[in-house]
Amino acid sequence: MPRQEFLPYALPLIEEDDIAEVVDSLKSNWISKGPKTAEFERRFAEYVGAKHAVAVNSCTAGLYLSLVAAGIGPGDEVITTPMTFVASANVVLHCGAKPVFVDIDPVTMCLDVNKIEAVLTPRTKAIIPVHIAGHPCPMDEILALAGKHHLFVLEDAAHAVYTKYKGKLIGTLGNATSFSFYATKNLATGEGGMVTTDDEALAEKIRIMSLHGMNHTAWNRYSSAGSWYYEVLYPGYKDNMTDIQAGLGLTQLAKLERMQGRREEIAARYNEAFGRLPELETPVELEYARHAWHLYIIKLNLDRLTIDRARFIEELKGQNIGTSVHFIPVHFHPYYRDTFGYKPGDYPQAEAVFGRIISLPLYPRMTDQDIRDVIEAVQTVVEHSRR
Ligand SMILES: *Cc1c(COP(=O)(O)O)cnc(C)c1O
Repeated sequence: MPRQEFLPYALPLIEEDDIAEVVDSLKSNWISKGPKTAEFERRFAEYVGAKHAVAVNSCTAGLYLSLVAAGIGPGDEVITTPMTFVASANVVLHCGAKPVFVDIDPVTMCLDVNKIEAVLTPRTKAIIPVHIAGHPCPMDEILALAGKHHLFVLEDAAHAVYTKYKGKLIGTLGNATSFSFYATKNLATGEGGMVTTDDEALAEKIRIMSLHGMNHTAWNRYSSAGSWYYEVLYPGYKDNMTDIQAGLGLTQLAKLERMQGRREEIAARYNEAFGRLPELETPVELEYARHAWHLYIIKLNLDRLTIDRARFIEELKGQNIGTSVHFIPVHFHPYYRDTFGYKPGDYPQAEAVFGRIISLPLYPRMTDQDIRDVIEAVQTVVEHSRR
């Protein structure tokens, strides 16, 4: 019997403590950036082990501000992967620089380090590795290349809160790391992001740029210790977090381990069930990795199936199971295709993987019955479409 109610592919876990903390922010009068934002920055920096954390209103803003603070601009090239959310590449264009894609390792879907050197030019200034789905990129190799060629390493950690690389939490490996707290992410504040770095000057510049380029925040100016005086040091932006979001950030961070424990349980149940089906390839967790299980991406072995990925998704929807696809390769989007003249075949591994991937529901709120329903639905579709 298929389930009666549609199961979305992602939902946040908002509980009474989250609601109480947001209400507390509203009652405190600090409804923009204030003491809770500062507290969330301190706790987040402490959690990942970084010297500095700057709260912003999205991961996209954090990526962009990091590039600007690093001095990336017109004439520069920035390397990233086509298998990502388009924000990783858009921010490069916003700086006036050019995104340069490197094809992926089809197993982890992270960018293939062996293909980086071939695209380096004297204009290459930075690299943005994306820890896709919550699996870390091979950072030692990336950092070694970056050191050799003087590249700024900006990690897109939108999926990677809780991810570990060789026993270390993501957040201190590159020059800067940007996290996302968007509604679907592992730690959700609705909209929100955080940049972590050990570079004090970089952190200070990002902080100032995030709030109009002013050298004092409202928190300093409006408290009794503050002063009306401020100076504008850069033509900055309006990318700060608010205490309404930071309230959620604090309660979500406090329960992160519990939420991740549930994600790990679900991933283990899926691995066990789907590992038995030769029609599917389950996600890997390489020896050096602790996966954050932001996404559970199966790859269809299309030669063993009579239907394609689009049809597989429709069949799951027919069983009331929601799914998504992460991601449509960036170079397939009309803007990128038409502006840079990309064509099919330019990034063959990303393109081949794209035709095979489906993200299944995986989030802490899922009940045991939800997990069983997903497993049964996938098994049923495979049985009906086996070659
Ligand atoms: C969600 C996401 C982003 C953007 O995060 P926002 O907080 O929505 O700006 C960037 N990169 C990747 C890989 C993402 O999945």
